[in-house]
Amino acid sequence: MATTYSRFPIVLTEGRGCMLSDAEGRTYTDFVAGIAVCNLGHAHEGIARAVADQARRLVHVSNLYYTEPQSELAEWLVEHSFADRVFFCNSGAEANEAAIKLARKYFKDRGAPERFRIITMEGSFHGRTMATLSATGQEKIRKGFEPLLDGFDIVAFNDLEAVQVAVTGQTCAVMLEPIQGEGGVLCPSQGYLEGLRKLCDKEGLLLIFDEVQTGMGRTGSLFAYEHFDMTPDIMCLAKALANGLPMGAMLAKEEVAKAFTPGSHASTFGGTPLVAAAALTAAKVLLDEGVIENCQKVGKYFKDRLQSLKLKYAFVREVRGEGLLIGLDLTCDGKTVVAACMEKGFLINCTQDHILRFIPPLIIKEEQIDSLIACLDAVFEGLSNSSKE
Ligand SMILES: *Cc1c(COP(=O)(O)O)cnc(C)c1O
Repeated sequence: MATTYSRFPIVLTEGRGCMLSDAEGRTYTDFVAGIAVCNLGHAHEGIARAVADQARRLVHVSNLYYTEPQSELAEWLVEHSFADRVFFCNSGAEANEAAIKLARKYFKDRGAPERFRIITMEGSFHGRTMATLSATGQEKIRKGFEPLLDGFDIVAFNDLEAVQVAVTGQTCAVMLEPIQGEGGVLCPSQGYLEGLRKLCDKEGLLLIFDEVQTGMGRTGSLFAYEHFDMTPDIMCLAKALANGLPMGAMLAKEEVAKAFTPGSHASTFGGTPLVAAAALTAAKVLLDEGVIENCQKVGKYFKDRLQSLKLKYAFVREVRGEGLLIGLDLTCDGKTVVAACMEKGFLINCTQDHILRFIPPLIIKEEQIDSLIACLDAVFEGLSNSSKE
């Protein structure tokens, strides 16, 4: 395999709900969920059945034709969001690529071809393709791949004034994650997103939300924008969309979406009946089985419990996040904490070297949170003892 990942030395073989087991028979409680992907947990019976049934019926025919699961999923997404149209693809980066292309095409069609630049944020993460890494405001993602794609102006996150200053006659859109995930679970400050909406309206810019990580219930609402008094013009989804099968989607309002005409953009695998059937089932389970309510309730409980660790340990700087996208900002290295938790049977994630990120399946229970907190408490206790020595 390519040497693109520094993997943990375990081989995962099976999962059920929030539990995983490895080839040596050890079990883990999963607070990573395949990086905010398996929102309904592993081996979900309803999704397994939907995938198996669809696999026996029709897996792939290309987008030269209509298929029922893809049409039904598009209808569901449109019914449950601000958007009027959906373009299906296979990943978050690809959804963001579609958004970038759509924003450019929208202004070309309106006779303003000079407007192609997009304002994005420091600390953002939009993917690893050339366009999306060029949009990403993190040096470590971009380094080594220059020259970057032209057309991105990166400004500080949570700074409305910085966006206003960066707007020129060449700007076509502002693109951001409503909560920065990979960047370290950074939440928008009060009024920021509403302010961006107003600014975009005033300047005639499109507002693009990368909800690849925050979408599909993760923050305690179906989409993160619902927490705010505004809607974007374009929204990108992927990660949890099909609960682990690869799928991305770019959603837009009709006025904007119509800039894509037959032949403008395409994807061979985008929205296959197989993956769409999984996504459609996942979407229904999310709403019908109280999963989002659980995310809100358990997410709040989780944050409260983490706050108690903050009070106890000086190296815990901050607890932040929404729903079950939670970050614990440490003043010390987080990687050793991740390794120690794995030893004790808990999978957690660390981003930006010192921010523990908790993104469990949205069906996680309070008892499982309690167990993780006990584990973290023991690990932190060890850390503070060793620093005293
Ligand atoms: C994960 C992620 C992406 C990239 O998704 P891929 O499927 O890995 O291409 C883009 N944006 C955000 C906000 C993400 O969290």
